[in-house]
Amino acid sequence: MQIKDLFTKKKYATVPSERPSKRDIPEGLMNKCSKCGNIQYSKELEKNLKVCSSCGHHNMLSAWERIAMTLDDGHLTEYDAGMESVDPLNFPGYAGKLEQQKSKTNLRDGVITGEGMIGGFPVVICVMSFDFFTGSMGSVVGERITRAIEAAHAKQLPLLIFSTSSGARMQESILSLMQMAKTSAALSRFQGAGGLYISIFTDPTMGGVSASFASLGDYILAEPGARVGFAGRVVIEQTIRQKLPDNFQTAEFNLQHGQLDKVVHRKDMKATLTKLLDMHCVREGASHGG
Ligand SMILES: [Zn+2]
Repeated sequence: MQIKDLFTKKKYATVPSERPSKRDIPEGLMNKCSKCGNIQYSKELEKNLKVCSSCGHHNMLSAWERIAMTLDDGHLTEYDAGMESVDPLNFPGYAGKLEQQKSKTNLRDGVITGEGMIGGFPVVICVMSFDFFTGSMGSVVGERITRAIEAAHAKQLPLLIFSTSSGARMQESILSLMQMAKTSAALSRFQGAGGLYISIFTDPTMGGVSASFASLGDYILAEPGARVGFAGRVVIEQTIRQKLPDNFQTAEFNLQHGQLDKVVHRKDMKATLTKLLDMHCVREGASHGG
């Protein structure tokens, strides 16, 4: 036996890469920031409301995570929890994809709606979830939001919508697009009757959602760095054949251009909402008299 035979089984040497790959980070224990690469304990990140302690990147939240950190005691009385999308156009593959999304997220569609309290003020709240079908707006998202607007109208409560969406749900075609008009019309009736609507853009809010209810708030807030726009930057760059600024379509860019009222860090969001509600509303249980 020759000495080289000892090594015949191992054909390739393993060279450790300079940067830690995903495999080097124990699953679930550590988290690597997608923006700056900073590695942080998952527990620390959770404590930090999923904001990177190094670069301030606001990681996406699921609808339920957002509700837990926004509503008093995280308590929501949910509306229309059983409403589900059907496949109205028999779009190839859609029914199967819906099932996949449901089992992946434990949600029935891309928005949760209901009633809760913020800083002691009763509100109607809608929270979109990007993890369900990229937060796309189909009939169920539009219908749940419209019903929430109508509930706020009937009960004379303020309305809050946290948006995140890739836009219309293509598999529902025109039925998806008509949700833009439906939600906008309901908002127009609500706001015409004096209702207060606070819209909060979170990353990303694009397409038909940014072009309908998300842009119609009496107050429009956004989380830092949230991408907000209609078409994506690549499509625009290819169409106009120009390079766009690096911060194009970020919340900060939109603030500079008058599309937003304020960019609010996640840790300050609840206090900011409470302040706005306090300016316009009466706390539950408070005396309405002089
Ligand atoms: Zn970071």
